[in-house]
Amino acid sequence: MSELLNVEEIFASKVFTLGKMKERLPKSTYKEIKKLMDQGGELSLETADVVAKAMKDWAMENGATHYTHWFQPLTGITAEKHDAFVSHPDEEGKMIMEFSGKELIKGEPDASSFPSGGLRATFEARGYTAWDITSPAFLKEDATGVILCIPTAFCSYTGEALDKKTPLLRSMEAISQQALRIVRLFGNTGATKVVASVGPEQEYFLVDREKYLQREDLIFAGRTLFGAPAPKGQELEDHYFGTIRERVGSYMKDLNVELWKLGVTAKTQHNEVAPAQHELAPIYETANIAVDHNQLVMETMKKVAGRHGMTCLLHEKPFAGVNGSGKHNNWSLGTDNGVNLLDPGDTPNENIQFLLVLACIMKAVDTHADLLRQSAADVGNDHRLGANEAPPAIISMFLGEQLEDVVKQLIETGEAAHLIEGGKLETGVSTLPDFEKDATDRNRTSPFAFTGNKFEFRMVGSADSIASPNTTLNAIVAEAFCEAADVLEKADNFELAVHDLIKEYMTKHQRIVFNGDGYADEWIEEAERRGLPNIKSMVEAASTLTTDKAIRLFERFGIFTRVELESREEITYETYAKTINIEALTMIDMAGKKYIPAVIRYTKSLADTVIAVKEAGVDASVQAELLDSVTVRLSAAKKALARLKKVTAQAAAMEDVKAQAFFYKDMVKEVMDELRTPIDELEMMVDKSVWPVPGYGELTFEV
Ligand code: ADP
Ligand code: MG
Repeated sequence: MSELLNVEEIFASKVFTLGKMKERLPKSTYKEIKKLMDQGGELSLETADVVAKAMKDWAMENGATHYTHWFQPLTGITAEKHDAFVSHPDEEGKMIMEFSGKELIKGEPDASSFPSGGLRATFEARGYTAWDITSPAFLKEDATGVILCIPTAFCSYTGEALDKKTPLLRSMEAISQQALRIVRLFGNTGATKVVASVGPEQEYFLVDREKYLQREDLIFAGRTLFGAPAPKGQELEDHYFGTIRERVGSYMKDLNVELWKLGVTAKTQHNEVAPAQHELAPIYETANIAVDHNQLVMETMKKVAGRHGMTCLLHEKPFAGVNGSGKHNNWSLGTDNGVNLLDPGDTPNENIQFLLVLACIMKAVDTHADLLRQSAADVGNDHRLGANEAPPAIISMFLGEQLEDVVKQLIETGEAAHLIEGGKLETGVSTLPDFEKDATDRNRTSPFAFTGNKFEFRMVGSADSIASPNTTLNAIVAEAFCEAADVLEKADNFELAVHDLIKEYMTKHQRIVFNGDGYADEWIEEAERRGLPNIKSMVEAASTLTTDKAIRLFERFGIFTRVELESREEITYETYAKTINIEALTMIDMAGKKYIPAVIRYTKSLADTVIAVKEAGVDASVQAELLDSVTVRLSAAKKALARLKKVTAQAAAMEDVKAQAFFYKDMVKEVMDELRTPIDELEMMVDKSVWPVPGYGELTFEV
């Protein structure tokens, strides 16, 4: 029997929640903080001092020795530099633990070693971290001890964003302001802000740590760069929602507890489609906190795996031939007086505010499909989007039968008089109830699907931060709201104007709606006919950040400056080039030091066998043929290895980052495939005992 878990007690026990602030802060300070959280504004140093003291006391009561400004540089992961609370001892040598308001609200880490895309010359390498008061401080506990983590934004000396949080926060302000104009038009004067809410479903793989440590590709690249398929993959569909194995179950239990302590509402867990693949989904929350929490989820997943003798792989494509991992980013908008802007209600055809919001989102997604695609680009995701896996790299919107029909009526007649009802689902068993069928049915192949009261953006990669996708979503929808409000606020006859606008937007942007099978080849042709962009890779997507259209959008709402966008484009190329370079070097290392030597030894023993069998006076043709096939592949591998060394060196020497990134994509990756093919074929031919690393079967079925 396991010990009793009191979730209510452990939930957020490591978070300096609003509740704890209320308990520990003077009433006036608490009120000031609460107001800043709700309405924004700047924290005075005096208040910061009071908060810092309470925070430090609470942290120390819980064993903390250090604090850190926890931030999210453009590496896509989080960064922290620990400072102990220790100060100068007093005259008698007694230690006084200190943490001031200034230390709480501002940090000055050396920024020179973080990616900045040329934004920051090294002579002014100083960066600033500033407390994001809307995201609560928390305690991280591991072998380092207990560390008080303060979520912060990270900017350069001259104020440019060097992180993922700053633009996200800016985008949240933009969407709030513009969405407020929309709800006000419909008479909602009580709302003071509109909040973007996000629930990210996180997919991951678990492999045995001992086996993981035998594979350099998993260690250095996070994915297998070689590997023949196991006899069994996911074809029986027996893993999805299957019974959770004991070892994985005990991992999930530990993971949940750790996350609950951090205030993450881990809710759903299940086995995913591929062998060794799983998923965890939390309950949605404010975009900004959801982004922070998703980082904590990823980090905790890795940490807890170690305790269970496993390694958690977050890479988008750890294994060829079975599904990769994504992150479904559920996104919605709600007012602070409880209205979900994406809730169609029972009669969406009569819900004009909803229809306007929908029309604006259609316009936003169609106008900026390229940016949305870019926001989900990362190196690993190139194996999913536009490669042989879903969703496709083409952005389209799924609305479901009912809404699609409403949109159609509006386009044709300007009115949506009737509504397709879901109807009853008859189970045919007298003891089972009949269900009301949901009219917003499901489509698993759409990259951007309406699912009842939210959109589910399914392109995002499993290892990626969800900050960029949500920044982009907020920005593009803010623009559409702004343009709609500009028209409607001036209209003499609001009813008429709003009807016209809905019809206009839906007509103009109906090409973005697609309810069919997004995986089918016909869709690629159809999308091309519709003029929808099909951006196949991360490097091709990068330049969408700096089109005139993008710069206009982001500058208009103060989310990114041109310079910031240019730097992000450059970082994309750099990241891509560096990642593929690591992959290529890892392949060179593994092929040269492991696979090829192992196969050479094998051919020696085969050759000995051939001679011995012949000497014995029997037919040795089977052994000789095998030796021949192995040798053919060995020589192909040797040639490809030499070629890979050459192109990788050539790539590494290139100066122009953009050209370099494209060279890695077009040349180096091709030669990587050339090397992989003969090695994978050899894996299936030679004696298992000579193979130098664990194969797919052992990695994915023996967890
Ligand atoms: P499915 O796998 O069927 O898509 P899940 O239950 O695994 O569903 O995940 C749905 C996610 O959507 C959860 O994280 C949930 O909290 C989130 N979600 C639900 N309502 C909203 C909303 N209004 N805004 C953002 N996310 C939401
Ligand atoms: Mg989902």
